[in-house]
Amino acid sequence: SKVRIYTLAKDLGVENQKLLEILDSLGVAYKSVSSTLDTETVEAISGILAEENAGGTPASGETAAPATTAPDVQQAQPEGTQAAAPQATTTPALKDDVTQTASASAPTPSTTSPSAVSQSSTAVATEAPVSEAPASEIPHRSPVVTIMGHVDHGKTSLLDYIRKTKVAAKEAGGITQHVGAFEAQTSKGRIVFIDTPGHEAFTTIRARGANVADIAIIVVAADDSIMPQTREAIAHAQAAKVPLIVAINKIDLPQADVDRVKTDLTMVNLVPEDFGGDTVVVAVSAKTGEGVEDLLEYISLTAELEDLRADPKGEFSGVVIESKVDRQSGVLATVMVQQGTLHVGDFLVVGETYGKIKAMTDTLGGRIKSAGPSTPVQILGFSEAPVSGDKVASATNEHTAREKVSVRVDTRRTVEEARAQRKLSLEEMMGSLVEVREVNLILRADTQGSVEAIQGILAKRESEEVKLNVMLAGIGAPTEGDVLLASTAEATILCFSVSASAPVKKIADQKAVDLKSFKIIYELIDEVDRLIKGNVEPVF
Ligand code: GDP
Repeated sequence: SKVRIYTLAKDLGVENQKLLEILDSLGVAYKSVSSTLDTETVEAISGILAEENAGGTPASGETAAPATTAPDVQQAQPEGTQAAAPQATTTPALKDDVTQTASASAPTPSTTSPSAVSQSSTAVATEAPVSEAPASEIPHRSPVVTIMGHVDHGKTSLLDYIRKTKVAAKEAGGITQHVGAFEAQTSKGRIVFIDTPGHEAFTTIRARGANVADIAIIVVAADDSIMPQTREAIAHAQAAKVPLIVAINKIDLPQADVDRVKTDLTMVNLVPEDFGGDTVVVAVSAKTGEGVEDLLEYISLTAELEDLRADPKGEFSGVVIESKVDRQSGVLATVMVQQGTLHVGDFLVVGETYGKIKAMTDTLGGRIKSAGPSTPVQILGFSEAPVSGDKVASATNEHTAREKVSVRVDTRRTVEEARAQRKLSLEEMMGSLVEVREVNLILRADTQGSVEAIQGILAKRESEEVKLNVMLAGIGAPTEGDVLLASTAEATILCFSVSASAPVKKIADQKAVDLKSFKIIYELIDEVDRLIKGNVEPVF
């Protein structure tokens, strides 16, 4: 029989981290503390712990003696955490460690279902747990969907239509408040929508290292087709490795031209299914509601393929999707529960502060006592307004909450130091990376002609060793969104005959994003050559 890592840690009375260290020493791969271990591994771990407690040296290999007395083994506590032993199995710092290791490690030998590994398993700590456990062990969760696209193409209207038709009306006839998300009940199940349309919200969250959406809907108006922000939205979804569905909107208009939009989609490498590709495209009208039911069905189908799962009994993790300060109630923050379950009374660690949940409400404004995975909840109890994209962890008491905050402060300092160094020697750093084979670029130029000219030249610069990945090529000055995209994708922003505004430059500076402007195409190309060189000549 199999046992989860965190369950075993609890049974043995040791910290998760301790078990992970032992697993590392045994060379056993795992994805997260929710991963399961087979009996042999459990016995090996028990053996090592028993030896450690007997004062012996830790067993160094795979042949540790099986210990039959596992649960009775005296706990080997890592320093400084004596007090809260068995309950201290939920530490965000641990969680971060776990997932960092997880993204680097190979699948567990006991893998039973490769399909259980979600496509975005390389993502950040807040990613829902990817488990090697048999599929039936970790329950499915509802998909979280974001809607992006060009201004006026109908994002808000589409969200409004879905909200009007698919959200259970509130009994008391109260006005539904905007809390940043809503839950739609469809014939195929529950779908959670982030209702801040536009990729700014999406990118702000991603820029802070969190991924909140499982699926991106790209809205394209049938009378306008693909526009600059459509391209940006596509680039953002692709950078996040989030599956996307194209909703061609406004098909009720007489001038609607669905086929033209489909043809234009192929130009940006999104080939619709009926054109032989694999991009899901649905024609809708946010005005009449035509096609919306199909769209919801495709969302459910996509979610099914993604096999989204999260353990309500696992360690809690969540992300702030919105927050505001209410004059009467104080700070109200909407948190998306990604894993585990939140309860009123829990301590929450966010950013570098912590608070205690005084009250929680669901997206309809109803009081709730607990909330599981894929549930957006509005929380009262933070002392300062958290920022969208902030990761939230829980702690069982004030003491552990404080500890977690101090770990975060330390981590930030380390990261800041690393950033500062990186900024000084970006090229050196790139040169030292042996495995980098892609140079991510964002191009901005004054005219479509320049963009195409530059792309043409760049295409010839690509080689087998180095791939030039132009994530986004646009006309006009670089935007804040570009900087956020560059920051999450480690891209360089190259501008030709346009330059960044002071605020955009400042953000680029803060995020240590390389942003350079050129007046001569060949100087820009020289810069690209330097970036390529940095990548092909590893310094050992
Ligand atoms: P957003 O900027 O993408 O959020 O776009 P909006 O939802 O604000 O829509 C922009 C305009 O297009 C508004 O005047 C909407 O009434 C209109 N609109 C949105 N969807 C449709 C549609 O399906 N059909 C028609 N005829 N108009 C639409």
